[in-house]
Amino acid sequence: MIGPLDPRDASRSTIDAVADAFDRMTEVNAGPEGLNLILWTDRPRAAEAARICQRDVDAGREGGLLAGVPYVAKDNIVTTELRTTCGSRMLENYVSASEATVIARLRNAGAILIGKSNCDEFAMGSSTEYSAFGPARNPLDPTRVPGGSSGGSAGAVAAGIVSFALGSETGGSVRQPAAFCGVVGVKPTYGRVSRNGLVAFASSLDQVGVFGQTVHDAAMVMEVIAGHDPFDATSTDNPVPRYRDADERGVKGMVIGRPKEYFPPSLDPRIAALCDRALERLKAHGATIREISLPMTDLAIPVYYIIAPAEASSNLARFDGVRYGLRVRGNGLRDMYDRTRSAGFGPEVTRRILLGTYVLSAGYYDAYYKKAQAVRALIAGEFRRTFAAGVDLIFTPTTPSLAFKHGAKSDPYEMYLNDIFTVTANLAGIPGVSVPIGRLDGLPVGGQLLAAHFDEMGMFRGAYALERALGAEAHR
Ligand code: GLN
Repeated sequence: MIGPLDPRDASRSTIDAVADAFDRMTEVNAGPEGLNLILWTDRPRAAEAARICQRDVDAGREGGLLAGVPYVAKDNIVTTELRTTCGSRMLENYVSASEATVIARLRNAGAILIGKSNCDEFAMGSSTEYSAFGPARNPLDPTRVPGGSSGGSAGAVAAGIVSFALGSETGGSVRQPAAFCGVVGVKPTYGRVSRNGLVAFASSLDQVGVFGQTVHDAAMVMEVIAGHDPFDATSTDNPVPRYRDADERGVKGMVIGRPKEYFPPSLDPRIAALCDRALERLKAHGATIREISLPMTDLAIPVYYIIAPAEASSNLARFDGVRYGLRVRGNGLRDMYDRTRSAGFGPEVTRRILLGTYVLSAGYYDAYYKKAQAVRALIAGEFRRTFAAGVDLIFTPTTPSLAFKHGAKSDPYEMYLNDIFTVTANLAGIPGVSVPIGRLDGLPVGGQLLAAHFDEMGMFRGAYALERALGAEAHR
């Protein structure tokens, strides 16, 4: 159904590229049968930006790295020209007075924002079914979810509306939908990209991430948005290399670990087989494959689903004026539930606020939150030791399953389990990328490459090599 659009095709004007993106959006997005990937747009404004960009091109002025390339941003990244609702009724008409650093950097590089994409409310979810503005659909099979929480952005790239999009990652919200939609999704090292203007979910885990139709798209965008930002104290000043140079460097001599805990007996054997094919190809390109073990892996879901809700409950307190955490025993939780729901939050966000308040409350703090932090440190240590022992990259499946049907995971715990292979990177703060590695029953499968802190270059070397090695097989 979908062929890639390359807006950088020099024969096409910027004006045409933006018009094509809007036409494609009109064709697939709206209406009862539409994919509902994009929530807010302003075509005249985007067309004007395209006209200005084209005028510069015609005048022979040097454009930025992404001059004239249309893109969409997840609706939890603040913009001044379009609203930012975080997929929530709570912010239905909110337009920010300032814009996120990543949006400003993309504009300076010439990229043109054409829409804000659908997402699970406040980025909590794995399917984009928890958006207050209706669920998004997977462009490859509209009866299925595109993944989440950045499902709108992943779908917009997969549907050929744009060649890249911004998402956000707290526990896999870029890599998982990238895998479900058959596109590339990057989660940078914690501190690599400014979070200024990303609406906070869980501050110690959140990062802006990037979707691309290709590894190269994602590498170019990362070059533009990475780097220190005085507005985000957690952003670091490590130099930003030219990630696109990773393409030429290949994987020859790299050691790639295959952690046995990410290939449990319960894993769909067809997913495991596609992963092993991908590893074989990397080996043929000169990498060494090493069997490794990360025994803490099965603790990652419980740890994540304590820490993320705990941080969310304090971050979201600013929206509804309800003071959480005063009393959670007896009728306290029931009262809180009622107040949170009536404040305008949906059921999943309410669940997280309650869970978070509970694990932070006096009497439970040590048993849950403090313990989770201790185990988080062990998980991070396990990765650190693995990389220190000479493993350059870790390869795993991105998800344990294929894109599922709408409504298939109505039990929240089932939904949480889908994040098993992605939350570890957020807990450890390391970078990761999901690359398409093949299809099963027509549905995409993603392979994940994880690297050491700030080794995005190594991560991109692996991703470029994998994409090259699989060629068209990655998409069939
Ligand atoms: N699915 C995970 C959650 O619901 C991750 C979300 C995210 O990365 N924003 O918390």
